[in-house]
Amino acid sequence: MKRMLITGAAGFLGSHLCDRFIKEGYTVIGMDNLITGDLKNIEHLFKKKEFEFYHHDVSRFVHVPGHLDYILHFASPASPIDYLKIPIQTLKVSSLGTHNLLGLAKSKNARILVASTSEVYGDPLVHPQNEDYWGNVNPIGPRGVYDEAKRFQEAITMAYHTFHGVETRIVRIFNTYGPRMRLNDGRALPAFIGQALRGEDLTVFGKGSQTRSFCYVDDLIEGIARLLWSDYNQPVNIGNPDEISIREFAEEIIRLTGTNQKITYKILPTDDPQQRQPDITRAKEILGWEPKVSRAEGLKLTYDYFKGLSKEELYNSAHRFESLPK
Ligand code: UDP
Repeated sequence: MKRMLITGAAGFLGSHLCDRFIKEGYTVIGMDNLITGDLKNIEHLFKKKEFEFYHHDVSRFVHVPGHLDYILHFASPASPIDYLKIPIQTLKVSSLGTHNLLGLAKSKNARILVASTSEVYGDPLVHPQNEDYWGNVNPIGPRGVYDEAKRFQEAITMAYHTFHGVETRIVRIFNTYGPRMRLNDGRALPAFIGQALRGEDLTVFGKGSQTRSFCYVDDLIEGIARLLWSDYNQPVNIGNPDEISIREFAEEIIRLTGTNQKITYKILPTDDPQQRQPDITRAKEILGWEPKVSRAEGLKLTYDYFKGLSKEELYNSAHRFESLPK
């Protein structure tokens, strides 16, 4: 029986990965410090004997008894407002945390896949972004804590591969959406749907001319599984190349939800990338992967999920960072 550690297991992507690999017949150990993750995302797994949960911060030494075949490192805040609130934890989880997990992979002789990001390309000067582009990142801007930690993560992962011979995989994840995103995580899709459901105006930052390319979570998970099982150790972009401006995206959400609210324009955050679209040639060639779910289908599934949340969840979306050690 294959045994896998998934960090960030109670988060959006981590919880979907737990589901997927339990379905594949693996034993899954989920790990999370629950800063941005929520046990609700995995509560359905607690009754399964194939699932165990460790409440732990991977920035500190990670101990897992027994053998391990695979490690998926998906612990990290992933939204710009989160990095602003917890910048040090954001830096630590992808630097110290990755180091700990690479050490664990080496000692267990396990294959490790780390979650990197389109943010390694920063505000890109090449469009669409392919894996050979080195990026345009401001190290000391508000996004620097995330972007540079993820760039360090890629560097140390490659070093463990070349120096120690650890089997490593690096996925560069572009904007992804779907059920279990946190309503209050500040990102465009949950922000817009939450606003529509509460009867508030939709807040578009800047003129809304900046673009993103949104991938439905099931497609992303399939790409990650294929990369994990492949023998390819260079970074691979996984995302949906269907690019849209944020203003048009807000208009789509207005039509989808049938809200009478309008768009209001707010100040554009510092270093907000102007355009983003993955070049997925490599994923197509090496993994035989491409996204299958259209934005129309994916948005409907996601809206159905958010509609099912309780009033309390919809209105009481305070952050839980106050209790954290500094
Ligand atoms: N955005 C927006 N209104 C919001 C939240 C986000 O206009 O309420 C914009 C944000 O400035 C960015 C884009 O939507 O240009 C995507 O933001 P998100 O935080 O979802 O992810 P990013 O790709 O920037 O990490």
